[in-house]
Formats: sequence, C-alpha cells, structure tokens
Amino acid sequence: MTMPQAKRILLKLSGEVLMGDQQFGIDPAFVAELAREVKRAKDSGLEICLVIGGGNIFRGMAGAAAGMDRAQADYMGMLATVMNALAMQNALEQLGVHTRVQSAVQMDQVCEPVIRRRAERHLEKGRVVIFAAGVGSPYFTTDSGAALRAAEMKCDALLKGTSVDGVYSADPKKDPDAKRFDTVSYDTVLAENLKVMDASAVALCRDNEIPIVVFSIREKGNLARVLAGEGVQTIVR
Ligand code: UDP
Repeated sequence: MTMPQAKRILLKLSGEVLMGDQQFGIDPAFVAELAREVKRAKDSGLEICLVIGGGNIFRGMAGAAAGMDRAQADYMGMLATVMNALAMQNALEQLGVHTRVQSAVQMDQVCEPVIRRRAERHLEKGRVVIFAAGVGSPYFTTDSGAALRAAEMKCDALLKGTSVDGVYSADPKKDPDAKRFDTVSYDTVLAENLKVMDASAVALCRDNEIPIVVFSIREKGNLARVLAGEGVQTIVR
C-alpha cells in the first residue's frame, strides 16, 4: 500500500526517542538529529505539526502505580511534554526553522495557548507548530492529543515515529513469530488490541479518516524515506 499523499502532516514522537541512548531525560545531540529530520521534511514542502510525548521524563500511570493520585500525576506528565516541546523548539530554531509551541495547559511565559486559527496561520507562514500538553486533561495521552490535533488541523496523515518499525501481530521482542503488517485496518487494531496508539486515539483517527503511519524514527533519514514511500512502516487505515 502506498503512502498517503500529504501536504500537511502531524508527526508524533514518543518522549522516549528524545532520550537517545540514555535511560532518562533529553539527549540534546539526539534531539538535534531529530530536528534535522523534521527540517528535511519541511524543506520538501510539507506543513508540519509536531506532538511530542513525555514518557522520557514522567508518565502519569507510573506515578499512579507508585501511589500518587492519577490526575495529579497526569498533570506532571503533561508538564513533561512541555519540556520536550521546548527542547525540540530550541533544536529546530538552531537550524533556522521557525516554530511556535502551543500548549493545552496555558503557560503564557513560555509558549502560546492552543488556538487553532492561529496555528493555521503559523503553518501558512511556514512555521512548524509544536503542540504540547496533549489534550490538556488527565486520563489521556499524547497519542490522543496527536489524533485530536491532526483532526482539527486537517492533517492528511498522522506519522507516529517510535522505536519499532511498524505494527506487529505480537511483541517482536518476545515472540519470534511476530509479523509486521504493511497495512492494517483501524478495526483490527482495536479488536486485537495491537500496540499502535491508545484506543481513543485510534478511534478518533478512524472516525476522521486520518491514516496512521507507524515507523522507526531511530534510524537516520527514516522520516524522509517513509515520506518518499521508500521506508519500512505500517499504515493503519
Ligand atoms: N498526559 C495527560 N493528558 C494528555 C497527554 C498526556 O494526562 O492529554 C500525561 C500522562 O500522564 C502521560 C504523560 O502525560 O503518561 C506523558 O505523555 P505520554 O505517556 O503520551 O508520552 P509518550 O508515551 O508518548 O512519551
């Protein structure tokens, strides 16, 4: 199956890819590498929205498992995504790419609030818009935030850059017979609980007919390859 024709994409990066080879936090050298990939995609003429997770710093579920109130922990997770967004903004601007960060949790001193029409204008002017803090509510994830922003910004595809090169029938680290799908339907992903994005994010993409392209962002040049239809990925549609 060929890649969706895209003029505007939303790129979702898991927080963990910002760690590079570290166990925690942000590796500025690796973030710079990611920023080069984003610049290359932008220079090819695409309009780009970015959503970055926070799992490299804090996940609400982990806090809750350790005895914290879930909502409180989730707000901490949202703040982690803002830190990642600022790190990516810094890396992109060092490459001369104009960016704006819009956060779903208002933080006037560091970024704009999410205003769809303003984000639209930024994209028209060639800026990369980084959406932070997910949907702005606990009990959600940045996958849902990515699906929501992809829908409201009318993106042609949601690209999920992660540590694996697609969607597998089982965990490839545990099951040697696990197979990678080239394409798979939203309904199969939901029915079989395949590890792509959380169910609410997949359902939102399905209902708004936004293809999800799952690929590995860890290999250099992979975003460009995937966009050119020359990469390894799974397309959920
Ligand atoms: N989070 C939230 N609401 C949102 C987005 C994120 O509560 O709309 C919190 C949640 O605790 C989550 C954390 O922020 O675990 C970090 O986001 P996520 O787990 O999606 O990051 P990723 O796995 O992509 O690195």
